[in-house]
Amino acid sequence: MPMSLYKLSDNITLIDAPINGVKGALGTYLVSGAKTAVIDPGPTSQAEGVISRLGKLGLKNLDWVLATHIHLDHAGGSWLLLKEYPESILHCHPKGAAHMVDPSKLREGAERLFGDRILEYGAIKGVPKNRIQISSDHEIINLDGASLEIHWTPGHSSHSQCYFEPDSRTVFVGDAVGHTMGDGGPVIPVSPPPHNPLQALESIDLIRSLRPEILCVAHFGAHKEPGIYFDRISSRTRLWMRLAERIVDEGMRLDDLVALTMKEDQELADHIKGVEGADHSLKASLLGFYLYAKWVKNG
Ligand SMILES: [Zn+2]
Repeated sequence: MPMSLYKLSDNITLIDAPINGVKGALGTYLVSGAKTAVIDPGPTSQAEGVISRLGKLGLKNLDWVLATHIHLDHAGGSWLLLKEYPESILHCHPKGAAHMVDPSKLREGAERLFGDRILEYGAIKGVPKNRIQISSDHEIINLDGASLEIHWTPGHSSHSQCYFEPDSRTVFVGDAVGHTMGDGGPVIPVSPPPHNPLQALESIDLIRSLRPEILCVAHFGAHKEPGIYFDRISSRTRLWMRLAERIVDEGMRLDDLVALTMKEDQELADHIKGVEGADHSLKASLLGFYLYAKWVKNG
């Protein structure tokens, strides 16, 4: 297979198209029966590379663009795939559909979190309303030779959903079970506000109950021992919830939560010690927990 294409099973391929030259940023997955689906095309700058790799694979028709959720780094390039493949339909959670048509709120949210870095995403454009099909929970998409079950998995966002392919027992979860900090690094919750860690834990349990054998996370890659992954993300989510609750109860601030986490989360502290910008990204990761704890306390 050409570079940056990895076959995971007979009908599933991981496409690693770079964002701004960086590989391993977001995994796009191609699921093929007689019909075909691309899961999470990435932002526009990545979707361009996805389209060229689909061409290398000889793909003529694309039936579905599937969004695990509508955050720009996952689905921002959907408009480009829909343009390239005029027969394709975007499938997303009902809570996300309006923002796929008018992405101005998504842009504002991403700008607040990432500032100028969103320029790396490329053009931010809406999708024609008549090219969207909204999902329902437990729905099945039949690809004639493969199928995908949809399970709503709120927590990371209200519009998160996972796709489960029962023949290969592969599940595509987007950000619902966190991300890894490098190969073999700690599994960290992806928690831009509004993040609901309690719902996230329920969703992790739901995904675990599907008994997947291959866990495809967006950032990044396919994991063949999902059980370990679920254990690690659940225990860190619980720990961070407890720490955020303690900080909020004591009337302390987000910076105090970062310091407390560095003290109490030894695996993480060991991993990020001396890494440039680690404090900043930990602060971003903890913000959703901090705001959730404040919301629980004060409404
Ligand atoms: Zn996300």
